[in-house]
Amino acid sequence: MVNRERVVNEFIELVSIDSLSLKERQMADLLKDRLKKMGFDVYEDDAGAKTGGNTGNIIGEKKGNKDIPAILLMAHMDTVTPGINKKATVQGDTIKSDGTTILGGDDVAGIVSILEALRVIEESNEDHGDIQVAFTIGEEVGLIGAKNLDYGKIHAKYCFVMDTGGDIGVVAVTAPSQNKIDIVVKGKAAHADVEPEKGINAISITAHAISQMKLGRIDEETTANIGIINGGSATNIICDRVELKAEARSRCESKLKNQTDHMRQCFIDAATRFGGEIEFNEELMYPSFKINQGDSIIGILKKASDKCGINLVLEATGGGSDTNIVNSKGIQAVDVSVGMDKVHSVEEQISINDLVKAACFLVEIIKAVE
Ligand code: ZN
Ligand code: CA
Repeated sequence: MVNRERVVNEFIELVSIDSLSLKERQMADLLKDRLKKMGFDVYEDDAGAKTGGNTGNIIGEKKGNKDIPAILLMAHMDTVTPGINKKATVQGDTIKSDGTTILGGDDVAGIVSILEALRVIEESNEDHGDIQVAFTIGEEVGLIGAKNLDYGKIHAKYCFVMDTGGDIGVVAVTAPSQNKIDIVVKGKAAHADVEPEKGINAISITAHAISQMKLGRIDEETTANIGIINGGSATNIICDRVELKAEARSRCESKLKNQTDHMRQCFIDAATRFGGEIEFNEELMYPSFKINQGDSIIGILKKASDKCGINLVLEATGGGSDTNIVNSKGIQAVDVSVGMDKVHSVEEQISINDLVKAACFLVEIIKAVE
């Protein structure tokens, strides 16, 4: 049985630890210790050394006594800011911060659900297959831990990432890929009053390009946005340089490519028209993934949700998570709700009932693997 008091106490203890992205050492050491006490072999990979973090990812494994596929349970150790000196306060069923920081339930709620489920499995003396755990670094700053995880140590067939919000039973089974796009528009400076004919206005090029561009919701699976624009130094100088930051996302790789190409072409056409130049750099932040209804991981989720009497809701999400990266390594991975709410804000909160339910769901997920 999931122990409500143990869950609450562990949640409060873990959120009190400062664990900003790439500074997760204290959290990592504590989690290593917890896993070891539960009989896990624990290993720290070199993701920290590779990326400037003060700890690597923590990978744990407990061998099972049943010949069924191994599973990987995953949550991230880092938080966004403001995340120093977090103090959780309990008000009825709700846990909140004191209002000056985030709560840190993203993703301590995921970590706690995993630790509690492992304890319940251990206490129940249930047979199970190999259970692997990965607590990652730097999720919030570009999925750095998941990208640099030592996959040589992972032999799981299924992965359950405990890192999303919504009612317990919500599971993200598809998520988009994202291109991060940096654009520089180059014109030619000239005095705006003395000899404007000699200038090429980078702001005009940019305005023309954007006026021709499809942005916002492109289709059911695709979105695009220009988020930052910078340029110009004085009203009497024709602007010779504009810098923009943009993004495109799609759950379909070919649509992502089409949208990115379209954005590039709008800038090229405008630059040609005005006689300027452009630099256009795109970087794939993460690949998309899509779990199909017939995939065996869906069967596990159905069986587990039936057992706990919760409503399974398979959803598409608009964002990227460690789940995208794990799927790209050939492991079926889904992102399971732990009930986190209003994350990345000082109003972040979580319901204790949801924390308990998430742990129950994970226990049944572990038991449902076959
Ligand atoms: Zn998260
Ligand atoms: Ca987050």
